[in-house]
Amino acid sequence: LGGQIASALQKMSNVTIIDEKALNECLKEITRALLHSDVSFPLVREMQNNIKKIVNLEELAAGHNKRRIIEQAIFSELCKMLDPGKPAFSPKKAKPSVVMFVGLQGAGKTTTCTKYAYYHQKKGYKPALVCADTFRAGAFDQLKQNATKARIPFYGSYTESDPVKIAVEGVDTFKKENCDLIIVDTSGRHKQEATLFEEMRQVAEATKPDLVIFVMDSSIGQAAFDQAQAFKQSVAVGAVIITKMDGHAKGGGALSAVAATKSPVIFIGTGEHMDEFEVFDVKPFVSRLLGMGDWSGFVDKLQDVVPKDQQPELLEKLSQGNFTLRIMYDQFQNLLNMGPLSEVFSMLPGAAAQMMPKGHEKESQAKIKRYMTMMDSMTNEELDSSNPKMFNESRMMRIARGSGRMVREVMEMLEEYKRLAKMWSKMKGLKIPKNGDMSAL
Ligand code: GDP
Ligand code: MG
Repeated sequence: LGGQIASALQKMSNVTIIDEKALNECLKEITRALLHSDVSFPLVREMQNNIKKIVNLEELAAGHNKRRIIEQAIFSELCKMLDPGKPAFSPKKAKPSVVMFVGLQGAGKTTTCTKYAYYHQKKGYKPALVCADTFRAGAFDQLKQNATKARIPFYGSYTESDPVKIAVEGVDTFKKENCDLIIVDTSGRHKQEATLFEEMRQVAEATKPDLVIFVMDSSIGQAAFDQAQAFKQSVAVGAVIITKMDGHAKGGGALSAVAATKSPVIFIGTGEHMDEFEVFDVKPFVSRLLGMGDWSGFVDKLQDVVPKDQQPELLEKLSQGNFTLRIMYDQFQNLLNMGPLSEVFSMLPGAAAQMMPKGHEKESQAKIKRYMTMMDSMTNEELDSSNPKMFNESRMMRIARGSGRMVREVMEMLEEYKRLAKMWSKMKGLKIPKNGDMSAL
């Protein structure tokens, strides 16, 4: 998608006369790219109209950066579509909340239930899991296994076949045990059938959930809108979680799910493991969807921050995509030199937004300083390597000793490095003008 939009915008920047026709041509190509990325047709059309309204032809004609103007318009439109305008219910500690998970079989409910519980457990909640899936053989075993691994209390039955009964018993049990986040996993079916929706309705009626989370597999493509709508019509869906974002999913389905349920996406699943779970953040997601990673804004910012004489070198490194620990160190230093870090970091797609959560700038800053202290104990060879595998136990121990930190912390820093490196590698191939003139990007 990023490539297609980029080429449409590129054409636009090459046209000397911008008239309605040229803009329409460009929008048509962008439309095609969005459809290809599984954004549903009505949404694409709505967006197209909105962009036309925002983009002022006169401004375009006079503007030096046509591409940037349209890019910004697309970006802000997509962000708007992902924001239903009201936040999802969020559970309070020490006050029992019931959260019910719904979705088709295979969407990732059971996996996501555990991730959701685990996430909150780490934040100090007392979660518990209830298996109300009596449809699929092995459903209870799966939940039990997950829950045991995460040390989360669970409830279920091998013999009871009434999901409503189990759900109610489970919720009552955990309320008595003062759990503050009681999660009810329900069954799915292969298709959207009446029996599934009836069962969901009954479980919801009996357990009175504070929040119903609709779990959707990101790879279902254009079917997303209808599926999300069908669920919303049967139960009061209040939030969405999109799973399997680690695969080849294009992500456009998230927009459809929000539009159909009028509920926000709260998390995305990025793998099968318990911690492969990210708080959903609109801007980085849209950047990822557009494939632009908001790099243009990021590069602008870098220009402001990085001393002029270092810019060409850094840009060269960026475009090569080889992200060494030394580059990370330099970037950390640059970031510490400027105002609120979150502003810059929030522009990095994906990983970084998590490293620097909003409202936690102070902690993040302390963390970055800690990381830098550890890197100060590294050898040149280590700093210039982009191969984290070289850090064997003895190297990690040396670094820990040298910086007065724990080996565990060194490992954590290397994990962070790996995440940033992965993200950075997406920069590979990005054509950065040698003269450093970003306006042409
Ligand atoms: P349910 O039928 O809705 O309960 O779905 P499950 O939780 O059993 O998940 C179905 C399959 O999808 C399992 O093999 C999970 O490991 C896998 N899965 C769930 N979430 C993710 C994810 O975010 N990424 C990947 N790669 N696999 C996932
Ligand atoms: Mg399941």
